[in-house]
Amino acid sequence: RRALGSWLDGRFPEPAPRAARSRLLVLAGPTAVGKGTVAACVKQNHPDILLSVSATTRPPRPGEVDGEHYYFVDDAAFDRMIAGGELLEHATVHNKYRYGTPRMPIERALAAGRSVLLEIDLQGARQVRAADPSATLVFLLPPSWDELVQRLIGRGTEDAEERSRRLRTAKVELAAQGEFDYRVVNDDVTRAAAEVAALAR
Ligand code: 5GP
Repeated sequence: RRALGSWLDGRFPEPAPRAARSRLLVLAGPTAVGKGTVAACVKQNHPDILLSVSATTRPPRPGEVDGEHYYFVDDAAFDRMIAGGELLEHATVHNKYRYGTPRMPIERALAAGRSVLLEIDLQGARQVRAADPSATLVFLLPPSWDELVQRLIGRGTEDAEERSRRLRTAKVELAAQGEFDYRVVNDDVTRAAAEVAALAR
């Protein structure tokens, strides 16, 4: 692409300048598969990779810090971010709260040669692919369906009705894994995170 660009003598400039080795990596996967844990492990072991901080209308859980885990905003602020074109993608997740990826920090990091990791849902992953076909899509898989069910029950954050709703969504999401560039099985967090990080180089 670069060679073609210079051959065209700058008449058709690249839309988003990006340093040669930086990658935009999207990590998605079904509920309770451990996306957040794997993403946190990548962040800890690879500080050179920027873990994108999303905006959300969900209220903070105990221990969550504004600007670190999420930007916690109300509906009006979220609407303004959409209207201002500030979000690379956004979606309503689990039919409830809205989540979106701020565009600016990602563009800055990519331009500076840093790779970026987004931990988002399937709808968001599809939007990122549409916005940037060069993005790398990674699907995180549970070791088995039974394991996924056990993890969802084990974390105890959802009641029975919400759990069955999420498991229905998980079936739909698992069926979409073929759309992804890579699949990583989360049987061991450290190993899965290392696999994801390796795709960022
Ligand atoms: P939680 O509320 O448990 O932190 O996240 C719920 C879901 O929202 C997770 O599946 C997570 O991947 C997804 N999510 C978090 N941030 C974003 C985002 O910026 N965009 C989209 N599309 N999904 C997100």
